Amino acid sequence: MYDFLIIGGGIVGMSTAMQLLGRYPDKKILVLEKESGPAHHQTGHNSGVIHAGVYYTPGSLKAKFCLEGNRNTKEFCQENGIRYDECGKLLVATNDLELERMKALWQRTEANGLERHWLNADELSEREPNITGIGGIFVPSSGIVSYREVTEAMARKIIERGGEIRFNTEVTGLRESDSEVSAQTTQGDFSARYLISCSGLMADRVVRMLGLEPQFQICPFRGEYYLLPEQHNRIVNHLIYPIPDPSMPFLGVHLTRMIDGTVTVGPNAVLAWKREGYRKSDISLKDSLETLGYAGIRKVLQKNLKPGLIELKNSLFKGGYLKEVQKYCPSLTKADLKPYPAGVRAQAVSRDGKLVDDFLFVKTRRTINVCNAPSPAATSALPIGRYILSEASDQFDLA
Ligand SMILES: Cc1cc2nc3c(=O)[nH]c(=O)nc-3n(C[C@H](O)[C@H](O)[C@H](O)COP(=O)(O)OP(=O)(O)OC[C@H]3O[C@@H](n4cnc5c(N)ncnc54)[C@H](O)[C@@H]3O)c2cc1C
Repeated sequence: MYDFLIIGGGIVGMSTAMQLLGRYPDKKILVLEKESGPAHHQTGHNSGVIHAGVYYTPGSLKAKFCLEGNRNTKEFCQENGIRYDECGKLLVATNDLELERMKALWQRTEANGLERHWLNADELSEREPNITGIGGIFVPSSGIVSYREVTEAMARKIIERGGEIRFNTEVTGLRESDSEVSAQTTQGDFSARYLISCSGLMADRVVRMLGLEPQFQICPFRGEYYLLPEQHNRIVNHLIYPIPDPSMPFLGVHLTRMIDGTVTVGPNAVLAWKREGYRKSDISLKDSLETLGYAGIRKVLQKNLKPGLIELKNSLFKGGYLKEVQKYCPSLTKADLKPYPAGVRAQAVSRDGKLVDDFLFVKTRRTINVCNAPSPAATSALPIGRYILSEASDQFDLA
């Protein structure tokens, strides 16, 4: 029997398992991952940004963990020889409304304790000759990394510390008793004293396996990207972000320098017809019916009908997508938008039709379940793991 089963070989599961073994080297820990390696889902399909903590509600777990995670991720990279680049980020206002919203963001960055610099139009174009705007906020601590590489390094540490990882092992059922939790998997049954689920796009399904009726449902939102051609690899010096509409949950299409030297544009946010569907043509009837059958998401769609339809149009027609980025980078053309793999976000939606904003954990006597870990959870994976450890040592008998 194990001490801990961890479901999920994404960055949150690996960070948690690695830190558990660091704190409790004698415990027997097994990570169960249904894919053939680590980081196959959200962790391996994202923008690779080490976020600074600009947007998050002051006092929220997101704000706290992102700030800590920004430092922790860079330290982890230094200690483990993983390349990262502290290239900084520019939020660019292109009209008076965005300038007003930028002022509100400026207050928020202050409340969140970030170093940042206000730029006027001249200072902006001095820093970024290819970017047009009437003002901007420069945040120096934002960076870029490959979260796949970070997660692979965590997996190596788990093995070095005596932990076990089983790939190609899908958890299909769970049973919690007074003394243990047992997991039925595609590779046989495993039991442990405690279980931690970090199952991303499947978080609600795992909670249901425990016999609970979750107060939320995971709704998958595709994030589609384009890649700029190689001659544009130096088109920007920093990460370039629009000023987001505060009523929208996602950050808007941005220009991202990737750690391999390329530049991507994206991601947008459109409802996905399959939880782990990365191609536009990927459709699962089961997933679609589950999503559309959920009153919470129907309320979200009703409330956001107009922006939702614009996102859908821009997803189907490159021209609309291009306009979003041309607002601040006018020299780009349709021919500059090359195909690039999409990601799918696991966004928890409450029954009353709200996109759950903060990180969310659901606990039972012997389990802790990470139920909402969207962006910036890759940046925040080390503090999230630390938080789970502290909850586990309070709640479980780990003597
Ligand atoms: C388009 C996009 C852009 C993003 N950009 C950023 C960014 O720039 N910076 C940032 O900080 N964050 C970003 N994020 C968010 C970040 O990628 C995620 O928050 C983070 O990767 C979540 O990690 P995770 O381990 O919780 O989930 P995942 O990486 O999805 O891992 C969950 C794992 O659980 C496994 N699993 C699920 N069910 C089972 C089961 N029954 N049995 C066994 N295994 C199971 C899955 O196979 C998967 O490997 C972005 C996300 C997306 C989609």
